[in-house]
This record gives sequence, structure tokens and C-alpha cells, in this order.
Amino acid sequence: MFELADQPIDSAAWRTRLAHGAAGALVVFEGWVRNHHLGRPVTELEYEAFDAHARLEGEAIIAEVEQDYPGCRVCCVHRTGRLRVGELSVWIGAAAPHRAAAFLACRQVIEELKRRLPVWKKEHHPDGATEWVNCTAEAATSRLSPETYHARQIALPEVGAAGQAALAAASLLVVGVGGLGCPAALYLATAGLGRLTLADGGLVELSNLHRQILFTADEVGVAKATAAAARLKAHNPLARIEAFATRVTPLNVRTLVAGRTAVLDCTDNFTARFLLHDACRAAGVPLVSAAVHRFEGELTVYAPGTPGCLHCQWPAHRPAELDATGDCASGPVFAPTVGVLGVMQAAEALKLILRTPGADFRHTRLLNLLDASVLAVERTANPSCPVCGQPAIIRSDRTPSRPDVILTEEAFVALGPVRTAWLLEAGETARAGFPGAECVLAGDVLRLRELAAAGPLVLACRSGVRSAALARLLRAEGMGAVFARAVGAT
Ligand SMILES: [Zn+2]
Repeated sequence: MFELADQPIDSAAWRTRLAHGAAGALVVFEGWVRNHHLGRPVTELEYEAFDAHARLEGEAIIAEVEQDYPGCRVCCVHRTGRLRVGELSVWIGAAAPHRAAAFLACRQVIEELKRRLPVWKKEHHPDGATEWVNCTAEAATSRLSPETYHARQIALPEVGAAGQAALAAASLLVVGVGGLGCPAALYLATAGLGRLTLADGGLVELSNLHRQILFTADEVGVAKATAAAARLKAHNPLARIEAFATRVTPLNVRTLVAGRTAVLDCTDNFTARFLLHDACRAAGVPLVSAAVHRFEGELTVYAPGTPGCLHCQWPAHRPAELDATGDCASGPVFAPTVGVLGVMQAAEALKLILRTPGADFRHTRLLNLLDASVLAVERTANPSCPVCGQPAIIRSDRTPSRPDVILTEEAFVALGPVRTAWLLEAGETARAGFPGAECVLAGDVLRLRELAAAGPLVLACRSGVRSAALARLLRAEGMGAVFARAVGAT
């Protein structure tokens, strides 16, 4: 609940309003009128609000914070009118099941009010002089000027004013706020990005803390994305950071990836990695991926123009089976390995935005912290990759025909009504497909997976080669009734 009040705030009454049985902690912030500001004595303050807008914005802030911290109830009342020294100008209370969430929620309300609430204050000085002060402008121009904050970065010839402007226009998504995501997000939050989004459905656990450096022991049990965003905003109040306390799924991945300048894969499992890879590939968004095993790590940038794709590296995979063989999510971790790899992911993402001369995204980096070595391995595309191979190169002799995958005309008719996806090559228009079929870009595995998950599916292309290769890929992933069909030139 948010209110503007032109009378003294009754903090005891507001405290009572927040009491509820499920609350184990109440954190209260009281803002008082002080007798000086920027070295000048102050006798009184006058607050003026753009009333309707201030109420709407205040309510929106409270709603956002209550959504970020489930079970948390927040009240805020802001004074208007003339106040004497020592009077209460703003009261914020956050009641939550646990103290960590209450502290974080209260702090988030303070920061958001300072940044967004259209309230101005006029200072009255002992000599009778008065002066209007805009709280937001004051914060931005005095202690936190972006130019000063980023001065040492802008001084780099590889950045400069143009590079800083490119960073300010960029939008990055970090998926997974764990050992990799914490250091990556920390360096991205201080770079001056236009938008930084953190997505993670997990909660802070005690066994995370040795490597997930954004969290404290007090925050065990709090959503990782929310706690990380709060820490990063405190670190750099100029940064625009969003938190999605949710797992990335086939249903939300396209929305999360859409419009991004780049995405960082800081996950710890193949299922999420393939999902992100396929969504980024379909949207033409570069993906900076890293994986860690004990003292070793691997860093790869999948971007338009770089050789190969994740399916080249792991042909005919089943993500769940790959996940079952490793121990990334629950096994032993040497913390500096994820630290180094996460920071390198941030560096690669910034270089992608800055188009840094000399940046090399064609090699995969293999790091070994036992002997502190870095090996650059040239990535090669698998010419027969069903996802990124060229249709003229995916040769039929490399994908030998199997009667269970490739449908003859008679078998197709016998199948009855069935959904068909016409595979479009890059540059091919939808009109070239055949009637009744959904046109899908051949590289859009995400869409093909969605269609195959909903029931029997026929993939069609001119030669039948790409469709057979993709049908086998989907079957290897565990999709049962996926068939291929050649329809020749139309
Ligand atoms: Zn490939």
C-alpha cells in the first residue's frame, strides 16, 4: 500500500497494518528531515508531489517489490507539505516470513522511490532563502554521474564515447545466477548497459555461497535472481536490472531472448543449454556459453557467422542423458574456475556489443586452472549437421535412409491427417512451401520440438535429406512420431 499524507505520519498505526501471522520479521525505514544539506543549514523542508502520478508510481513500486518477495507485505507513506527538522518525511515497512527478504524488500522500495517518485523538495535556510531540490536529479548529478562512473572505461580507445553509447543501447540476458552468473552479472552491471536481465528459478542455498559471490549467508532461502538484482542495484544504482525468479522453459524462452543484444548461458545443465542455444539461433542472437568441471572450463560464443552450432558438438544427443552423466549441477566445484569463466563470459559479451577489433569468437577456449593454461581450439562445423549444415552439403550418404523415418507417398497417405512442417532454408520464402504445412526455418529446432511434442509430425523438404536428418535429431531427443518426406520442387 502506498499513500501520500499532508499530516504527520502515525508510524505505530502503519506498523499495525503490516502485522500478519505469517510474518517473522518487520524492517522499517524512517526518513527524517535533517538540519543541513550539502554543507548548508536547513530549517524546514517542503515536499510537493505530482499527486496522481506519484500515487500510481508508488503503488507500482510496492506491487513490484511484493511480487519479487513472495509472502512480503509492504507499506509506504510519503509526506507532502511543510515539515520541520526532525519530522518524519517517509515511512516504509516491509513484513516478510524471513528477515533477509524483509531487509531486501525495504531497501528496494527506498531505491526505487528515490529513482522514480515524482516528488520535489524545497529547502528553507536560516537566512530566509529557499531552494527546490529534485531528489532524482540530485542523486544523478552529484555522487553518481554516469560520465564519472564510466570515465576509466570510456578512456579505453576500444570503448570511447561511441562504445559507451553502444553499451547504453544494449540489452543482455543472463540465464543462471550461480557460480558463473554471479561474477558475469557483477561485471555487466557496472558496464553501463541499457538493460540487464537475470533469470533463475532457484533459491540461495548455504552450499552455493562458496562460489556464488553475490549472496550472503543471511539470504539463504531468498530467490537468487531477486537477491542478485538487489545486490547489483546497491553496487551500481545507475544500472537498470530486472529479475525473473523463474526457470527458463520452452514456453518462456523465446520471450526472454527476443530483442537481446546477447545472451549469457550460465546454466549448469544440457537441457537448459540446448534450449537457450536453439532459441538464440532462431532469433539470431549471439549466445556466450560456458561450462565448468572441477578445475577445467570451456568458453564458446555461438554467433551468426561463427562456425558450427551446439548440435555439431553433440550430435544425436538426449539432454537429459547428458545431464545424467555429468556432475555440473551437484558435483564438486573449484570456486575460482567458475569465477574466471563467468568473468570471461562478461568480457566476451561486452566485446560483442563493442565490436572490438581483434575479438575472436571462432575458437572455443579450454581453461585448466590446475596448470593455469588456456587452449584455443578452432571450432569446425559438422557439414552434415541437420541444424546448421547447408542443404547441398548434408549428403544423403552421411544420413543413410531408414524406412522408419522417411515416409513414402503411400505411407504418408496412410498416416491420415497429420501436422506437417515445411522446412525453409535461409532466404526461402514461405510461399515456396506446400499447402496446409506450417513453414519453419530449418534451423529453428525450438519450434520443431514444440510441434513434435504435440503429436505426430511430418517434416518436409525438397530432397528429404534435411527433413530426415532433423527427424532423426528429434527422435534421438526422445520424440517418437517424427517422420520425413521429400516433396520435390514445387
Ligand atoms: Zn550444427
